[in-house]
Amino acid sequence: MGERFIFTKHRVKCYHCGVEADQVIKAVSSQAQVVCSNCGATRIFVPRVEEEADIGVYTPIGCYDVWELQPEAPCKNCGVEGPHDLIVGCNHFTTRCHNCGYTHFYKFDLEYIGQCPIEEEETG
Ligand SMILES: [Zn+2]
Ligand SMILES: [Zn+2]
Repeated sequence: MGERFIFTKHRVKCYHCGVEADQVIKAVSSQAQVVCSNCGATRIFVPRVEEEADIGVYTPIGCYDVWELQPEAPCKNCGVEGPHDLIVGCNHFTTRCHNCGYTHFYKFDLEYIGQCPIEEEETG
């Protein structure tokens, strides 16, 4: 994943640990993720649609906790680095280039806690 696209942070109360902490948001064409910087709770989103779309086409429906951000990012469609609408909800993650309207729509795939390793070293 050498591609550079969305990389930003949003400080908010974490749904998992309940602490107000930076939620680190990253996206490339193949995946998007949101990681709590405090507890490591990670949400992974997988791409569903990429196209030029009008504002509001992928407006989320019925979600309690939607973040609407506006990070600067390089658009892979028009090549302009500028503001993108970034909407993160419980089941979706969308980005939209202000310049050309190119939209990435990702769907929630899975979540895990990054700071709870599965393997445990044997002690003694
Ligand atoms: Zn957390
Ligand atoms: Zn664009």
